[in-house]
Amino acid sequence: AAVVKRKMKMDRRWAKAMEIVKEMQEKCGTPIGKLKQVADAMVVEMHAGLASEGGSKLKMLISYVDNLPTGDEKGLFYALDLGGTNFRVLRVQLGGKDGGLVNQEFTEVSIPPNLMIGTSDALFDYIAAELAKFIAQEGQEFELPPGKQRELGFTFSFPVMQTSIASGTLVRWTKGFSIDDAVGLDVVEELTKAMKRQGLDMRVSALVNDTVGTLAGGKYSYKGVAVAVILGTGSNAAYVESAQAIPKWHGDLPKSGEMVGKVYCSWSSHLPLTEYDHAMDNESLNPGEQIFEKLISGMYLGEIVRRVLLKMAEEAAFFGDIVPPKLKTPFILRTPDMSAMHNDTSSDLILVEKKLKDILEICNTSLQARKVVVELCNIVATRGSRLAAAGILGILKKIGKDTVKDGDEQKTVIAMDGGLFEHYSEYSKCLEHTLDELLGEEVSKTISIEHASDGSGLGAALLAASHSPYLEVENC
Ligand code: BGC
Ligand code: MG
Repeated sequence: AAVVKRKMKMDRRWAKAMEIVKEMQEKCGTPIGKLKQVADAMVVEMHAGLASEGGSKLKMLISYVDNLPTGDEKGLFYALDLGGTNFRVLRVQLGGKDGGLVNQEFTEVSIPPNLMIGTSDALFDYIAAELAKFIAQEGQEFELPPGKQRELGFTFSFPVMQTSIASGTLVRWTKGFSIDDAVGLDVVEELTKAMKRQGLDMRVSALVNDTVGTLAGGKYSYKGVAVAVILGTGSNAAYVESAQAIPKWHGDLPKSGEMVGKVYCSWSSHLPLTEYDHAMDNESLNPGEQIFEKLISGMYLGEIVRRVLLKMAEEAAFFGDIVPPKLKTPFILRTPDMSAMHNDTSSDLILVEKKLKDILEICNTSLQARKVVVELCNIVATRGSRLAAAGILGILKKIGKDTVKDGDEQKTVIAMDGGLFEHYSEYSKCLEHTLDELLGEEVSKTISIEHASDGSGLGAALLAASHSPYLEVENC
């Protein structure tokens, strides 16, 4: 009788757990019709955001970049790429027409977590010091003639309201950064002051978002680049808009007639959220903001899965009588680990077993339970990547590239970067597949996604070059 009773208890628990999974599956469903609605809503919001500042939840920030690299840029330039858990310092030697990229060297440093929530000075001092170290180590061949300043492109991947190509104030932090005293400050001024404190004589010639840097870096290799998308810790996109289509732009019309705009993934309407999404948002450092980003990007996917598993542990004793304590730690399940579990092709899911044990200290899981964990990863990643594809469709619609037009010879290239896209193969496969499905066979042949690996740093250096006061462009 005891055995029978125990079996019944186990069955009840399992049924309850499956109920939670099934509900998650339903709530995260993204049928094509829904995705098309998301794309259409996005186009509407983009128009509103271009019409007036604050006209839409979707910020359409102007980059002040009205010319993308031509390939003629020449000289020695630096870039600083700050935007996630790591930052990079780069030195780029550009050879001008036919010379191309002569040399590129970089170092990557991680940002100590306490600096992500400290003070503005502490953060900028730290990055300026790393920059100074990098320069102190370089050879004599990089010495500049007297009177000439080193020039820097600054990739700063947070929402910034730019006031010129080389200035802009921080609107708010994202991605786990929260440094109150920096909000509203000109980040170029802050960096410049910190460089002075380090005794560095450098000038910021261009301030760019990583999407804009990726657009510029991508354009250097692929002529057809019109859109750049970052899918990493956070997510965002930039694209080339015709200046006339930006009513809120009151400056002169650029000669090129075009301006790079940044689309901020901060729009939230039209998206049904699950209880896990709501709770994660509420407890985040930026509640109510960047909701789209919280559904699609790397910082959050693993956390959503953790929250569902925790509920299954609490309400269905999914991992046994005791709720595994580690499972209660926010952000303990990182998206790279989720990706590893999702990708486990071994028949008994040994990798899943190992991850659950190493990260969450959950031992003795059944194969059946591990399969459920994989299924949850799949649900969350599929929703994220399909929504990301819908966002891309929205941009393609906005620039009229969602249909085939006579006379369009060049393929439209989407420059993509970010660790999520690069390393989470189930996610990127699903994204590409969904975009094809949304565009249809004929149109999808005219669009290509290219991985512009670390294009944002190179792009910033290229934009520093084309906005240099000592502009050295061959043949001019
Ligand atoms: C930021 C964007 C950035 C994106 C990708 C978001 O959290 O708001 O400025 O482009 O992450 O790094
Ligand atoms: Mg980056």
